[in-house]
Amino acid sequence: MLRLPSIRFTLKTDAMQSMLRNFINGRWETGATTGASENPSDLGSPVAEYARADARQTQQAIRAASDGAATWAHTTPQRRADALDFVGSEILARKDELGELLAREEGKTLPEAVGEAARAGQIFKFFAGEALRISGEKMASVRPDIDVEVTREPVGVVGIIAPWNFPLAIPAWKIAPALAYGNAVVFKPAELVSACGWALAEILSRAGLPAGVFNLVNGSGRQVGQALLDSPLVDAISFTGSEATGAQVLQRTSARGAKVQLEMGGKNPLVVLADADLDRAVECAVNGAFFSTGQRCTASSRIIVERRIHGDFLGRLLERMKQLKVGPALARGIDIGPVASRPQLEQNQAWLEIARQEGAEHITGGQLVECESKGYFMSPALFLAAPEHRVAREEIFGPVAALLVADGYEHALALANDTKYGLCAGVCTSSLKHATHFKRHAQAGMVMVNLPTAGVDYHVPFGGRKASSHGPREQGRHAAEFYTTVKTAYTYA
Ligand code: NAP
Repeated sequence: MLRLPSIRFTLKTDAMQSMLRNFINGRWETGATTGASENPSDLGSPVAEYARADARQTQQAIRAASDGAATWAHTTPQRRADALDFVGSEILARKDELGELLAREEGKTLPEAVGEAARAGQIFKFFAGEALRISGEKMASVRPDIDVEVTREPVGVVGIIAPWNFPLAIPAWKIAPALAYGNAVVFKPAELVSACGWALAEILSRAGLPAGVFNLVNGSGRQVGQALLDSPLVDAISFTGSEATGAQVLQRTSARGAKVQLEMGGKNPLVVLADADLDRAVECAVNGAFFSTGQRCTASSRIIVERRIHGDFLGRLLERMKQLKVGPALARGIDIGPVASRPQLEQNQAWLEIARQEGAEHITGGQLVECESKGYFMSPALFLAAPEHRVAREEIFGPVAALLVADGYEHALALANDTKYGLCAGVCTSSLKHATHFKRHAQAGMVMVNLPTAGVDYHVPFGGRKASSHGPREQGRHAAEFYTTVKTAYTYA
């Protein structure tokens, strides 16, 4: 029988919370070593201590998943739907509490964090429904008296390697379809957000899944991540993270023929045309570039503005940026929380220097911000850049945007596509002609018209092109491509 929600994630007092453990083969296990998860808004109050697994413990989890996969592949769709529905319902019922944990550990503002928790719940609910809708095709053969059936079967054991910037939603959009389509899971969160990973696992541990079907292994990419990549028992790897790590993931998994899906970086353009509603365009730019501290793969880190309105747009953008409040993630009225970690803050600061040295004009921001608590606070930064500047070409993953000036629509489109990435592209315009042309010709997996480049629905495909992605799309019904394998059966009767 399923137990009702019990544990508050914000305390460090009960037995579970004194040390967040790994979940392997249906049991909570201590690790090889321990780690502490930091609160980037308040360095004096760590979020949690957690057990760190090593490669040996990861192998245990993989073996458990391999055994569990056989059972789960043959469960009824109803049982899978019930389990996922339980998880989704509990996350939604506890979204405030989970959001608070997320805000404390990752640093996004409380409203953003609660929104992410709700999204994770909705994703589980969506895939609860999809578990009941796994379909195939029955076709007439081209030969006489033969029937052909095309069906989908689970892939087997799926290794899930997640980044820190969406610690509930990204694991949800990988774990939920994996389980819905009958696979077993070994989940490795980013160490930076081990408590969020644990919180999700704690709910999944009470969802009525057979032992081994879902496993949580906290630990480093070097140990836990690589053990997942190299194990012949892991049939598929779903990875989201940086391009550099993604390249390693691809190399190692391809070498042994595993199925692999990669979602990586972006340098997403937001084009602002002269006919745009400028107030709306400014909101799109501010939201897309700086909310969630710019730590979104879909962030609008390149704002491409038509020359005719450049001065007017920049004036309004600077006015709006002045109003943005940077501060602790849980504080009221905050627009931008802290940067998630010290290395990320140092990297952002180094980017400011790179941009200045290569000749980009520093317009505003980038200062370290003092708050009541000690944390990684930084004001949003804006540069006027040329297309060849690195600040306009490489992913920074922080509250730093490059503004580029375009001579008309065609030039703006060319600048938008002048990148190795292809995750999301946006345009602000009141012209149907330009909006339609942009939707057709932007080289990106997702396109936004009069919307920020970040912020998507949970029931439709998510993913990019070029260096941003590899393999089938995530989310929505398209997730079936990755989490199932197709079988074609012929019957002569
Ligand atoms: P990251 O450093 O590449 O890490 C991602 C995950 O890979 C973490 O769990 C990490 O573990 C693990 N890892 C690191 N080295 C590994 C290795 N050698 N083998 C196996 N696993 C390894 O990325 P991040 O800093 O967490 O996330 C930021 C990046 O993610 C940005 O580039 C952003 O654009 C991208 N992102 C993309 C999307 C998308 O859908 N396109 C969405 C969100 C984020 P540890 O960190 O615990 O060691």
